[in-house]
Amino acid sequence: MDTPASRACGIHAARLNLADYAVNFSDAHPPLTRPQALIEAERCYYCHDAPCATACPTGIDIPSFIHRIAQDNNRGAARAILEANPLGGMCARVCPTEVLCEQACVRNTNEDKPVEIGSLQRYATDAFFAQPGAPLFQRAAVTGKRVAVVGAGPAGLACAHGLAVRGHDVVLFEARPKLGGLNEYGLASYKTAHNFAQKEVEWLLSIGGIEVRTGQQLGRDITLDSLLGAYDAVFLGLGLQGVNALGVAEPTATGLRNAVDFIAELRQSTDLSTLPVGRR
Ligand code: SF4
Repeated sequence: MDTPASRACGIHAARLNLADYAVNFSDAHPPLTRPQALIEAERCYYCHDAPCATACPTGIDIPSFIHRIAQDNNRGAARAILEANPLGGMCARVCPTEVLCEQACVRNTNEDKPVEIGSLQRYATDAFFAQPGAPLFQRAAVTGKRVAVVGAGPAGLACAHGLAVRGHDVVLFEARPKLGGLNEYGLASYKTAHNFAQKEVEWLLSIGGIEVRTGQQLGRDITLDSLLGAYDAVFLGLGLQGVNALGVAEPTATGLRNAVDFIAELRQSTDLSTLPVGRR
């Protein structure tokens, strides 16, 4: 918010020149090139009981997708990733791999350096999203079951996609104008450059069988009782949008905002130079 008080604290718009905005909000970790990815994939031992896969919360068959990259089969690698985790493209950008799969990688033992699993996952999924070609997955025969999914963040999107693949019809309710939840409104721009969150949403919906209703907030526009009466099942993926309060008895400091609201504003801005920011 650009107010006289915040300006007095040195918070104002147009703080940077346009070139600096372009640099500061570009991709923080450029993707691997093809030669880099092929060399990195060859570092994998394709462990039988792969500890990296055990450490992956989404159960991706990591040695399998890395082996496919080594064979220059990026589509096959993307399939191995996305069939376990349909949001594997975004996870490749934001997942804390250094404390999950990469921390468990046996290459740490003899080289002190894990296989770059996150970067390889991004390499494969980026290649797929750049040229998707024929659909990776087909819907099963329609079951006649209808499911309401409330919340179109990562959980709701993954649920909707999984249900649609199994032949169920889904109505996806979302309070905000765009789908994606945290991916669209809560992640820093330099982690999700080039509008990747919406590209991923488009791909998830392309499976078919998912009707989207935005501007629908539970408790305001729809109720749980009405959904339970109208659908065979209801999934609530409402997210964790609350921000921790400091809990100190101090007057509100001038120019203080919670980071989640600021990032949401930043992510939706079409002109970053209009956003008021501080000196640091
Ligand atoms: S633990 Fe490391 S070397 Fe073993 S399969 Fe996983 S990525 Fe490859």
